Amino acid sequence: MTVNARYAALFEPVRIGPVTAKNRFYQVPHCNGMGHLRPRAEAGMRGMKAAGGWGVVSTQETEIHPSSDLTPYAEGRIWDARDIPALRVMTGAVHEHGALAAVQLAHNGFHASNILTRTPALAPSDMALDFAVPAQARAMDKADIRAFRRWHRDAALRAREAGFDIVYVYAGHRMTLPQHFLLPALNARGDEYGGSLENRLRLTRELLEETHEAVGGDCAVAFRFAVDEMAGPDGMQAAEEGRAVVEMLAEMPDLWDVNVSDWSNDSQTTRFQPEDGYQLAYTDFVKGLTTKPVVGVGRLSSPDQMAALVAKGRLDLIGAARPSIADPFLPAKIAADRIEAIRECIGCNICVAADNLGGPIRCTQNPTMGEEWRRGWHPEEIAPKAAAAAALVVGAGPAGLECALQLARRGYDVTLADAAPEPGGRVARESALKGLGAWRRVADNRLYDLRQRGNVEMYLNSPLDAAAVLELGIANVFLATGARWRRDGVGRTCRAPLTGGGGVAILTPDDIMEGRLPGAGPVVIYDDDQAYMGGVIADLLATLRDDITLVTPAPVVSPWCAHTLEQGRIQTALLEAGVRIEANARLAALGEGRVDLACVYTGARRQVDCASVVLVTERARETALYEALRDEGGLSVLEVIGDAQMPGLIADAVYSGHRAARYFQADPGAAEAALYRREIPSLPEEGR
Ligand code: ADP
Ligand code: SF4
Repeated sequence: MTVNARYAALFEPVRIGPVTAKNRFYQVPHCNGMGHLRPRAEAGMRGMKAAGGWGVVSTQETEIHPSSDLTPYAEGRIWDARDIPALRVMTGAVHEHGALAAVQLAHNGFHASNILTRTPALAPSDMALDFAVPAQARAMDKADIRAFRRWHRDAALRAREAGFDIVYVYAGHRMTLPQHFLLPALNARGDEYGGSLENRLRLTRELLEETHEAVGGDCAVAFRFAVDEMAGPDGMQAAEEGRAVVEMLAEMPDLWDVNVSDWSNDSQTTRFQPEDGYQLAYTDFVKGLTTKPVVGVGRLSSPDQMAALVAKGRLDLIGAARPSIADPFLPAKIAADRIEAIRECIGCNICVAADNLGGPIRCTQNPTMGEEWRRGWHPEEIAPKAAAAAALVVGAGPAGLECALQLARRGYDVTLADAAPEPGGRVARESALKGLGAWRRVADNRLYDLRQRGNVEMYLNSPLDAAAVLELGIANVFLATGARWRRDGVGRTCRAPLTGGGGVAILTPDDIMEGRLPGAGPVVIYDDDQAYMGGVIADLLATLRDDITLVTPAPVVSPWCAHTLEQGRIQTALLEAGVRIEANARLAALGEGRVDLACVYTGARRQVDCASVVLVTERARETALYEALRDEGGLSVLEVIGDAQMPGLIADAVYSGHRAARYFQADPGAAEAALYRREIPSLPEEGR
């Protein structure tokens, strides 16, 4: 197959030290919640990226020593030779498809919890750990620095033995010792490792030299470096020390992998950073200072943008974490000129949230992410239909669209109906909110595909009741009827409906999304949900008026969004927009032109005057149609999916729809059997 000339440069091989990447598609290191706890799942996921055409596939940060123990997070681990076999499963899966395997060696210094190992944490200077725990890291003395260099060197040797082609020295995300030494704010040393930039860079220089000496004949040595902390003069800046570092080390690494720091800046969501490629403004100077290949990131999913970056000499390799998660077959699709088939990352950071919660990775756009080994799911392949059959999917939200699409791909005749004039369900509604426009891609990507297929009929403006469903005569029915936000106040902190409230208008997020905005007078938003919706609505209403109070039982707004790396930005945005925040408070009662709040600790009451209350509490599942059809009986399959089954994230709804389609007509129990494919620790050596 000939690649479209427009994108041909993306498929040129790139020499990286002693190894050669077959093309310019580079999956940079990214966390995934699998790591040393779930090595087969990790290998399955990484191998799938290699199958999808990525020329380089990397691990996540990989702990080199017990003094860098990231428990409870499941990252990579290469403490000693016993870790090699698990890592070999990954390199083997990557090599099988002709890709290079890279390992991101990491020592996390004062960013390591050491909860498992109870080993003292290390840092350039004495300092509190980077978590709210009552423990400190100690300043490394010269013996510690020598030991650390030896651990890094030994880890590099083990990495080579495990089959890695590229070995990283990692100074990024404000997470690792080389960067901690480099940043003046974290390095108060008075010896040759502190003070001047030359001194603060000494450790990095030594690591690069020693990694080269150890494995440089066989493996490329990559340097991952955060050139800018996006903190202006309060942090490292690309225009100043960031640039100076690149000048000083220019030809030392075989590859520069450059980004911004910390993680919340490197993995910004579309809500706060809508522009794909946003990091290039910080990183693209690097190419001018080195002859070594440079890889950069910034949610790069557009092939035209990628080709332009290479053509203009801004990058040599197109780095991706999230775009490779949303579409592991992105390179293969570009090669086949199937651009329209690319599932674009929506920048929601649900993938990040899974890792932050210690669970295996998932993705809103790609429901097979993390299920490659456990369930044997392939993002591009699905079993053909077992036997000819027709299916009806009611509801064209994320669950219904995904279910219909996968059933259609399997070859079934699919009818998709929705009461609304537009498809998309909650995706269409939520993506109209401030900052969430990119979420629309969840519906758009699926609709585009569905509309190409001859075996799908979609009916809009079609509310169906049980009689209408039965009249269609389709025996297999999937109900993706969704959920609506409750209007009665019932939620986490209030299990009984609220009473009272004369003169206070009650609204829900659905009202806001459907254009029914609060009337004149002060507005209270009660965010008992504590995820993104309450903060998004406050942000939206604050652009229209200045009398908004957000009440939350939590100590901060949108606490769940800490997992998506957004909480700080949300709180900042609301404060800057003039939203009053009443934290640690629950909605106790609705009064006359006011609400009564109760302190979640003392119960002490206070009142807030308001004309309207937006209740962001719980959602009620839309199950009336299910109940009616169940009572009628007679259908071969009647399955509730998505938010009608379990209100959750859009990612959960997509996953639910996908799963239902995968297991339609499968052997009974196949779904459950697959779920229980587990990685169980073996106990080969007693006492070790
Ligand atoms: P999910 O997230 O599970 O996909 P959504 O709430 O996004 O759920 O979408 C549910 C969709 O189902 C909405 O677009 C709604 O209009 C549609 N719907 C709900 N009940 C019916 C019904 N009885 N007939 C047709 N469409 C329905
Ligand atoms: Fe992109 Fe969201 Fe998928 Fe992460 S979960 S890769 S941010 S679409």
